[in-house]
Order: sequence, then C-alpha cells, then structure tokens
Amino acid sequence: MPSKTLPIGQEIMARADHLARWSDMPGGLTCAYLTPAHRATAKQLRQWMVEAGLRASVDALNNVVGRWSSDVPDAKTLIVGSHYDTVRDAGRYDGRLGILLPIAVAAQLKAEGRALPFHLEIIAFAEEEGVRFGTTYLGSSAVAGRFDPAALAAKDKDGITVAEALRDTGLPADEIPDAARRSEDLLGYLEIHIEQGPVLLNAGLPLGVVTAIAGAVRRKLTITGEAGHAGTVPMGYRRDAAAAAAEIVLAVEKICGSMPGLVGTVGQLAVPDGAVNVVPGRCELSLDIRAGDDTLRDEALADVEREIAAIAARRKVTIASVDLLRAPAVSCAPAMLKRIADAVVKAGVPVHSLPSGAGHDAVMFGGVTDVGMLFVRCGNGGISHNPREIMTADDAELAAQVFRDILLDYSA
Ligand SMILES: [Zn+2]
Repeated sequence: MPSKTLPIGQEIMARADHLARWSDMPGGLTCAYLTPAHRATAKQLRQWMVEAGLRASVDALNNVVGRWSSDVPDAKTLIVGSHYDTVRDAGRYDGRLGILLPIAVAAQLKAEGRALPFHLEIIAFAEEEGVRFGTTYLGSSAVAGRFDPAALAAKDKDGITVAEALRDTGLPADEIPDAARRSEDLLGYLEIHIEQGPVLLNAGLPLGVVTAIAGAVRRKLTITGEAGHAGTVPMGYRRDAAAAAAEIVLAVEKICGSMPGLVGTVGQLAVPDGAVNVVPGRCELSLDIRAGDDTLRDEALADVEREIAAIAARRKVTIASVDLLRAPAVSCAPAMLKRIADAVVKAGVPVHSLPSGAGHDAVMFGGVTDVGMLFVRCGNGGISHNPREIMTADDAELAAQVFRDILLDYSA
C-alpha cells in the first residue's frame, strides 16, 4: 500500500500503479464495467476516500462518491470527478488521475483541519468508455440527470444486459434516478484529466486550461459507382467508387487541416465484396469532424459536403450519407476558466488554453452546471488509450497544487 508520507504527486502515481493490479486481462490493464476487476477497483477507491476523511458511498451504477460536507447553511456542491473504467489494454492515468488527485488533495486539506464553505463531492464514475456494453458516459449521465433507461437493455458480447450485470453485482437499478443532482444545488463541475494528445508536451508545458470539449459530427457514406472488369474497362470509362473515396479522404484532410481547433478523420474505409480484378462498384467510409466551436465545425462540414458533391458529379457516382452522431460542443464556463487559469499562474506555469478533442464525463454536465477542465501533460508523444500512456509525478504534484488553490479560491 502506498505510504501516506509520499509527496502528493508520487502518491497519486503510486495509487494509479496500485489500481492497475485489478484487470480483466493478464499482462495489461482492462477494467470494463462491473467485471470483478472493476468491482475491486471501486472498493479500493472507496477505502481511499474513507481514509481521506470523506463520507464514501456507492450509488446504483457503482459510481463511488466521496463527500466532504460543509457546515455552511444552504451551501452548494462542487463536483470533481472522472472515470475509473478503462479501454482495453489501457494506460493507468486516463480517468483515474481525476479521481486520485482530488482524493489526495482533500486528505491534505482535511489533515490541515480546514473547512470548506461548500460541499465537495469527488465522484469516481463507473463507466465512461463503453467497452463492455457499448454505452458511454453511463456513470456521469446518471449524476447529471441524463441517464437513458434504454441503456439497461444494452448487451455485452455474452448477451448479458446492463440490468442483469447490475443485479448480479447487487446494485438496485430502480434507484438510478436517485443519483441525479439538481442543477440549483451545484456550484460547478471540475474534471482533471490527462490531455491524451501531444500539444502540452510539444509546448513544454505541464498543464493546460480546457476552453471547450469538442462537438462532433459522425457520418457513414456509401459511394455507388459501377463494378467492372479490371482488365477490359478503359480508365476513362470507369465509375470507380474507391477512387472517389480516396479523393474524399484527401478532401477531408485538406479542409480540416486548414484551421486550428478543427480535426477530421476517415477512420473506416471499405470496398465491400471487393476483388483484386474488379473495378470497385461500392465503397463505404466513415467521417468524423470535430471542433471546440460548433460554427467552425459546421462550416467545415459544409465545405466537405460541397467537395463530396463535386467529386460525385465528376466521377459519375452517387454518394449517400447517414448521420450517426451530432453532439454539440460544450464550452467551459468563463468564471471557471478564470479560476483555473489564476491557479495555474499561481503555480508558476504559463496559461495554455486548448480545446479537448476527446469527449469526457464533463460533457454530461454541460447545461447542468458550470463546467471546467484542467489538462495534465502526457509523455511518450502524448499517446493514450495505450499501455505506453505515461505522465510524471512532478506534473501530478503541480496539478494537485492547482486543484488545491482552486478549492481555496472558492473558499475565499
Ligand atoms: Zn478518460
């Protein structure tokens, strides 16, 4: 067990290592919703919350909640949280940093005998990644009052539903609505997370202030041309669906590469029933465009659509498009941004603001309460969702100092 006398950054790192011992896979870290490893992780988090002097409980979805109540009448609640489930063969810090860090800081403030003029809730969300059931933001959706009961019917690869997994764990699904917090009771939602990208690393900065969490548009495109003999149809007569797809991939790269804060990806690309000696008659591809600003994203999407129409006309193919997802960007609250930036400056670090391209539990709290996020630098080129994901104890220490100052600033 990591010792309590370690500096706070080292303690956070040691605890992340400690949690990694509970895994669904040998030789790596996978912690999917409600597996034995997941339940053991929740139990350990709860114990650390208790040791920190928090009142710890587990809700109906296995979110672990550590509460530090204030004596001030009518005090509001600041929620600080992130997720403890992981992707397959994950790193140790994605999600978990945002739980271990506030627990360590709360323990420190408690040990100093401090009181807070607001309630602090540190929430370890049980499910964000969607690995086992294809559900995402399960834990935070319930706390934000956005739980979709349809998720209870989602099945894992063995046909077990979320409802069955909850029952087998002894969790009362009918009490999920009780997890919802009321907007008017909240002071805000703050999440500390590794950046999961290379921006801070390349800038030589340990911390970043998140301005917004990118919204996304996802589409599936189906291109229909005409299949033909690869030997007999002259090039000029072809209606090649894959060649049209190739042009679309490059158009997306060019358009989305033209503005900072905008990203576009074709992550799936297939020639169904394709053969080495057949001109492709059909091609399917995905499209994912994200930006921290919905207007910027929609303008890029319109440019991509114009380009797709031009490619279709020139190549005499038809291109059908189905919307898979349209999620608005969540802007971080200006007051929260200022608080975080002030604390970063106080820690002697230049303020670097950046949007988050990845979704986080914070998304669920957009429109419910003020949202803020602090990013911490990743090493190894910024790689994440990978066992090579790393960060340093020094950066954890700085982030803890910033979080501590944010709490004290709220108290002032
Ligand atoms: Zn995460």
